[in-house]
Amino acid sequence: MNLKSFLYSLSDFFFPPQCLLCNTSFIHENSGYFCNKCYDGFSFIKSPVCEKCGLPFQTQEGEDHLCGQCITEKHFFDKARSVSTYNGTLRKALHGFKYNEKSLLSKPLSQMLAAYGGNLLNLKEYDSIVPVPLHSKRLRQRGYNQALLLAKTAGKAWGIKVDIKSLERVKWTTPQTFLSKNERKKRIRGCFNGNPERVRDKNLLIIDDIYTSGSTVSECARILKKNGALKVDVLTFARTI
Ligand SMILES: [Zn+2]
Ligand SMILES: [Zn+2]
Repeated sequence: MNLKSFLYSLSDFFFPPQCLLCNTSFIHENSGYFCNKCYDGFSFIKSPVCEKCGLPFQTQEGEDHLCGQCITEKHFFDKARSVSTYNGTLRKALHGFKYNEKSLLSKPLSQMLAAYGGNLLNLKEYDSIVPVPLHSKRLRQRGYNQALLLAKTAGKAWGIKVDIKSLERVKWTTPQTFLSKNERKKRIRGCFNGNPERVRDKNLLIIDDIYTSGSTVSECARILKKNGALKVDVLTFARTI
């Protein structure tokens, strides 16, 4: 053990780090932010997944292929991928992140998105990253946009610029939590405006925190393509299944 790691372990012994999710103290665990039990609660998504929407399949074998939903339904993005399934651990983590800007979770979650998400996509393809925008009224209420925080960390890690001016949310909607898929789709239509000067002939990557029905990111992709984008992929941290 060199001096630096000796000093770190000494300080961990006297001031053990606390897990950001369950507050238990831990020493020598695999993540600097979470105890092993909570870290194991993140359920990272692996192939085989739906080649279009990224839905993980139950079976662990075989190639990526289209899921039943993507055979019958149109999504306007080219492909969507997510880091982890939206389970109890992630619900707790993202809730803390969504409603508290200064949340200590902001850094580890953004870093995880950059590290794991980067492996799910061919990053060389993208000209810029587009975080899903909040309506200005919601932004004032909340004070920050969690999708933008994720996008900034990822963009910095990958060397891709984040463009907040390519897409704007112009229509205010109430939270969509309890709506059916069709209602979500209807409600989100016309919520965004694109900026053709910024997106024309570009390959773009949309970033958001959660993929639920895909209606929000699909509508974003529709508007970006209507304004001339060539290709629009999506990366979210969590994915409901
Ligand atoms: Zn924990
Ligand atoms: Zn699918």
